[in-house]
Amino acid sequence: MLTTDPAGTKRFRERRRLIADDDLAGRLRELGQLSTDVRRSVVRMIDGAQLGHIGGDLSVTDILVTLFGGVLAVDPEKPRDPDRDRFILSKGHCAAALEQLHGRSHLHDPHGHGWHLDRARFDAFLRSAAGAAGAELRRAEAVPHLTHAGDRRVLIREDGRLEEVRCDWVVDATGRRAVIGRRRGRRRKQDRLVALFALFGRRLPGHRTEDAELRTLVEAVPGGWWYTAKVPAGRLVAHLTDADLTDSALRTAEGFLDAIGTTRHVRTRLDGYDPAHAPAPCWTAAHGLRLSPAAGPGWIAAGDAALAFDPLSSQGILTALHTGARAGRTVDLCLSGETAALTDYSLFLQRITDAYERHHAEIYGQEQRWSEHPFWERRQQMP
Ligand SMILES: Cc1cc2nc3c(=O)[nH]c(=O)nc-3n(C[C@H](O)[C@H](O)[C@H](O)COP(=O)(O)OP(=O)(O)OC[C@H]3O[C@@H](n4cnc5c(N)ncnc54)[C@H](O)[C@@H]3O)c2cc1C
Repeated sequence: MLTTDPAGTKRFRERRRLIADDDLAGRLRELGQLSTDVRRSVVRMIDGAQLGHIGGDLSVTDILVTLFGGVLAVDPEKPRDPDRDRFILSKGHCAAALEQLHGRSHLHDPHGHGWHLDRARFDAFLRSAAGAAGAELRRAEAVPHLTHAGDRRVLIREDGRLEEVRCDWVVDATGRRAVIGRRRGRRRKQDRLVALFALFGRRLPGHRTEDAELRTLVEAVPGGWWYTAKVPAGRLVAHLTDADLTDSALRTAEGFLDAIGTTRHVRTRLDGYDPAHAPAPCWTAAHGLRLSPAAGPGWIAAGDAALAFDPLSSQGILTALHTGARAGRTVDLCLSGETAALTDYSLFLQRITDAYERHHAEIYGQEQRWSEHPFWERRQQMP
């Protein structure tokens, strides 16, 4: 899947300008540096995939870097521009080198690399920070059908006992379930995306090498996409597709493993994991979801409860933190009598939604190989 994005486009243009504006010595230095970056990525990619032709990729790199860095009229933002230069690589064994110049790598990202979050430890850290700030923490369940947001009370179940808690304001941070907000607002689903995911933890007996590949891999397939990432407990593999397009065989450990076997790249990341201990996948909803309104007098929703994203965005946790912090400030303002803060909060969520929907269309629109398959066709027709 092509993954050029606005940041990648900006980076490409900056590097081109730097190369164009420099004197000969500077130009050679920049191109040389770019070649080194590309070669490093090629070696990592081929090592990760355990296939490819390293010699050919390394030898063609200087030519590709010179063409894409200083000669060809190409703009990553306009791949279909009829006036762009066309480059045809009739040297298929060296596609890995070419891919480096089209792809987006965290190695070259001016905003730095991405992060893998140890969610259990992060949540424990947040709880202790809340405790240190004076919050009283209760491990209880908000009982959905009996809780009335806006009435400034919540019914909770703790150790099997029901209790009504009165409060000045209720913040719904119960994720996609939106236990409180769903009774107040309307929920709009973006599509029918679901995730089937399994954690592979057991290494093959006698397999000595560690799984040292820390980069997240996303691979598009006709009926959706896969991703895999190393997590503290092993390797997570997930398949994203639409609920109505899901093959029932995928629900079993064997079926899931078979499906992984049909991928080109994801399967290589499971080298060394014991297939005999392949777990049956779990399911979860993964579609974009918007609660509207997401706040009213006495209540406010934050995180996935207010706005949940397709995981391809990789923005869910960041947005949950962002909306959580903003919801907190909004409540604070409302408690001081500034009720217009609720309108500002709605506008803030709207801006995030607009940007998310734009990026969603842009990223899904880049995959053109299976545009007649319902999964991709539906996404190309989204507003
Ligand atoms: C398959 C998949 C992959 C993803 N990958 C990424 C990624 O790579 N990067 C990223 O940034 N985001 C990713 N996300 C999104 C990310 O997980 C969410 O956006 C994020 O967790 C939202 O945080 P939250 O606190 O709002 O909700 P959640 O993390 O869902 O937390 C909600 C909490 O509320 C609790 N709760 C629920 N009901 C009740 C109740 N009745 N009473 C009391 N408590 C309750 C739950 O137990 C949970 O602790 C992914 C999501 C999916 C589905």
